[in-house]
Parts: sequence; structure tokens; C-alpha cells
Amino acid sequence: MFSILVAGSSGCGKTSLVNRFVGDKFTIDHVPTQNMNSTSHTVKVNGKTVRIMLNDTDGDRRYERVSINYYSTMDATIIIYDISNQESLETASDICERWKQYNQQNKKAVVILVGNKSDMKREINKQDAEDFAERENLPYTETSAKTNENVTEMFMSVIKRLTENGDDDGCDSPADDMFALRKGYSCMSWDTDTAPTMSWDTDTAPTTTTQNSACSCVIN
Ligand code: GDP
Repeated sequence: MFSILVAGSSGCGKTSLVNRFVGDKFTIDHVPTQNMNSTSHTVKVNGKTVRIMLNDTDGDRRYERVSINYYSTMDATIIIYDISNQESLETASDICERWKQYNQQNKKAVVILVGNKSDMKREINKQDAEDFAERENLPYTETSAKTNENVTEMFMSVIKRLTENGDDDGCDSPADDMFALRKGYSCMSWDTDTAPTMSWDTDTAPTTTTQNSACSCVIN
């Protein structure tokens, strides 16, 4: 079981991305996340069944005291922002700072920056986002929960990285892990101007039969 934190400002699409990945659903509704929603899901990676818990939390400062408890306990953090909303990148930057501050003990953690709503008119220049990611040493990619562009690929790349992240991977610090994840991306023909061509073995695709979205619950 791996725990993955999906963090970002309210409205950037965290719940939509989780719902798209777990249940292939998308709605235009927006119910602001209070504290945290946790959804369990099962995927297959290289023939092995992997259980994940996707924890979707609001990264706004008012929830800081709640969310900092999670930074140090999660196996991976997916920092989401909305490419059509400048403020959401500022929140992503705050989350990134907090992640660094509170995650120092978590040697094997994986972290990634994701620009969601790639189907919309962008307010944030792609180059600026890539420069930000480069400065923070974060792998970067873009998704659309609405069109389902790159959603499965993004989640699966994080999960795959977690499954590979054994004791013998030479990654002794979060920075090493970020670098390793970045390397993983570059091995996968990542062309950011076109649909991603990343692929994995057919049996690594998420299973729909064993998914357990029904056990989504709210932790107060
Ligand atoms: P959260 O607060 O981060 O969990 O945001 P939600 O997942 O509730 O999404 C907020 C709003 O943005 C909802 O109206 C969604 O339908 C919409 N939304 C989410 N992802 C996308 C996307 O990729 N493209 C577009 N156009 N809208 C999206």
C-alpha cells in the first residue's frame, strides 16, 4: 500500500483528477475539499498488484496545520496547479516549500508538479512553469481531467516509481528521488507539445475490475 498526497489550491482539479483516474468520471461540479478525502484504488504494475491510497487535500494556507502532518507520512506528493489560474501556481509554490520543510525525514518520497486543465486557455506560460519546476528540481507534466489527457500516465508514472523505489535504488534523499523520477520521465519519449507517448507493459494499466472507489471516505 502506497499513500499518495494530491495537493493544490481549491478548484485546481485534484478531486477531478482522482475521480478520472479511479473511476474514469468527470463532472463540472466543484465541492471544495475540507481537510482530506481518501480514496483507495488497486493497479497492476509489472504483474504485481499494488494498492494505493489517494489523499486529496486543499493546499490553501488556512489548511496548513492539517496538511503538514501528511507531508512527512506520504510516499509520494503530487502538487497540482491550474494552468488557467496564476494564483494556483503561487499556492503550488507554497506547498513545495512546506513539502521541503516537513518531508526531510521521508527519504524515499517522490514528488511531482502537475499543471492541470491543459484543455483550457492558459494564464501561465508553459516555459514559466517548466522553469519553476526546474528550479525546484521537480518533474513536471500537464494533464486534463476533463479530456482525460495524460491522467493515467501521470498517476502510473508516480506509482511505478514508488514500486521501483526499493532500498537498493541508490536514492538516499528526496532530491535523489526527484532526480530519479525526472530521469524516468526523460526515458519515456516525453514530448510536451504532443500527446505523451509514454507506455508500460499491458499488465501495468490500472485495473478497473478491482478498483475500490466505493471506500472513498472523509477524514475529519
Ligand atoms: P479541487 O478543489 O482541486 O478538488 O477541484 P475540482 O476537482 O472540484 O475541480 C474544480 C472545477 O474545475 C470543477 O468545476 C471541475 O469540473 C473543473 N475541472 C477540473 N479539472 C478540469 C480540467 O482538466 N479541465 C477543465 N476544463 N475543468 C476542470
